[in-house]
Amino acid sequence: MFPNAFEYQSPTSLDEAVALLVEHGYEAKILAGGQSLLPMMKLRVAAPTVLVDLGRVPGLDARTENDRELSLGAMTRHASLEWDEDLWARYPLLRETAAWIADPLVRNRGTMAGSLAHADPAADWGAALLALHGSVTVDGPNGSRRVGADDFFVDVFTTRLEPDEVLTAVHIPRPEHDVFATHLKLERKVGDFAVVAVSLQVEIDGDGRIRRPGIGLAGVGPTSLHATAAASLLEGQPLSLELIREAAAKASAATDPASDRRGSADFKRDMVRLFVERGLRSIESRFDEGRRRSA
Ligand SMILES: Cc1cc2nc3c(=O)[nH]c(=O)nc-3n(C[C@H](O)[C@H](O)[C@H](O)COP(=O)(O)OP(=O)(O)OC[C@H]3O[C@@H](n4cnc5c(N)ncnc54)[C@H](O)[C@@H]3O)c2cc1C
Repeated sequence: MFPNAFEYQSPTSLDEAVALLVEHGYEAKILAGGQSLLPMMKLRVAAPTVLVDLGRVPGLDARTENDRELSLGAMTRHASLEWDEDLWARYPLLRETAAWIADPLVRNRGTMAGSLAHADPAADWGAALLALHGSVTVDGPNGSRRVGADDFFVDVFTTRLEPDEVLTAVHIPRPEHDVFATHLKLERKVGDFAVVAVSLQVEIDGDGRIRRPGIGLAGVGPTSLHATAAASLLEGQPLSLELIREAAAKASAATDPASDRRGSADFKRDMVRLFVERGLRSIESRFDEGRRRSA
C-alpha cells in the first residue's frame, strides 16, 4: 500500500528541525532510519503530513566517550554498534543486542535512538538501555534535558518525548569493573521482534562481587521493563546458583505479559525466568573461566 501524501523536510541544523516540529506539532514526524515509521505509513497506521528527516543535521552521528560515559548521537545505526570492535570490550551489550535486530538491511538503516523513540514494548534496545542504566538527551524549544531510561518509557509506543522534541543522544555509563553481558531472545522466525527478550549486564569487582547489575525485559509488558527487584538482589553479591535462581524468579514476577498469538502469559513469564537464569549462569561460567586462566 502507498502512504498518505506528505511534505518532506530536510533541515540542516538541530534548531531548524525543532522549529519545524514546533510549527507542525502532531502533524509532523521525525524520520531517522525509517525502518519503523515507513512501514507504519505504508500500512496507514501512521499518516504524518510532514516528515522531518534528521539525515542532514550535523553531529547526530557523533560518538564521544569520557571516563564517565559513552555518548552516541541519535543517527547511530544498529549496524555500527554491531560492528565497531572498539566498543566490544567496554560495551559488549551493544553488539549482543544489535546483532539480534531484524536483518542486515534493517540494521544498516535503523537507529538505536529511533527504536527508543518508537517505544515498541517488544523492541530490543529498550530492554538493553534499561540493563545498561542508560539515559537520553532530548532537545526541544525549551532547551535540552536528560531523561534516565527508567523514566523514559511511559506506555505502549509512548515515551517522555514531546511532539516538538528530538532525542539527540543516548548515554551509557562506562563500566568501572570487568563487564559481562548477554541478550537472550525468543523469536518466531529469524529477524522477528521478540516474543520475549532479556538483556543482562553485570560488572564484577576484584572480590568477585556483582556491581551495577541491570536486567531489561522486552515483550512482557506495555513498555520495556527493568527488573529492579531482581537486580537489587544481585548487587554486592558473588554469583551462586541459589542467587541466580532467586533473581530469575523475581524477574519473572516483575512481568505483566499478555496472552496472544505469540504465547500465553504464563509461557512468557516462564521464558523470562529461564532466560535470566540461563544468562546469569553463562556470565558466571565466563567469569570463572577468566579467573582460571589468569590464576
Ligand atoms: C523487517 C523489520 C524487522 C524488525 N525487527 C526488529 C527487531 O527484531 N527488534 C527491534 O528492536 N526492532 C526491529 N525492527 C525495528 C527497527 O529496529 C527500527 O530501526 C527501529 O525501531 C526504528 O529506528 P529508525 O531509525 O528506523 O526510526 P524511524 O522508523 O525513522 O522512526 C521511528 C519513530 O521514532 C521517531 N523518531 C526517530 N528518531 C527520533 C529521534 N531522534 N527523536 C525523536 N523521535 C524520533 C519517529 O518520528 C518515528 O515515530 C524491525 C524493523 C523491520 C522493518
